[in-house]
Amino acid sequence: MVDMEANKTCQFCGMFDASFTEEQLDLHYWQACPMLTSCNECGQVIEICSMPEHLLDECTVSERYVKCKKTGLAISKSKLDSWQNSRHCQRPLSGLGSQCPLCFTHLGSSDDEEIWRAHLIDGCPRNPRRE
Ligand code: ZN
Ligand code: ZN
Ligand code: ZN
Repeated sequence: MVDMEANKTCQFCGMFDASFTEEQLDLHYWQACPMLTSCNECGQVIEICSMPEHLLDECTVSERYVKCKKTGLAISKSKLDSWQNSRHCQRPLSGLGSQCPLCFTHLGSSDDEEIWRAHLIDGCPRNPRRE
């Protein structure tokens, strides 16, 4: 019974739907889950909170990206100059945490899943999958 429920709960956003089938859950990951997005470069579905790691390491065009030393975000080499001059390129005041790669809001501890969930589901103004 427990396993059945686990199969009907999104492991990323925590959404539970008793009618979820495996296919519907896949569709949720692919199109609807507010914690996920398709990479703009390669189309792979990735977790928004690990977008920098994806772009820097896994993406088919990872050689085009560099890690911003201040924010930890992955920035296209061709846009690095304008990024570094933008108001978004700032170290968080606390010196900790990470920045939303969609709206550039500074979030608290980057490892805190709840902070990411709250931001991406309820707060992020740039997340196209927010309802
Ligand atoms: Zn989800
Ligand atoms: Zn990619
Ligand atoms: Zn955001």
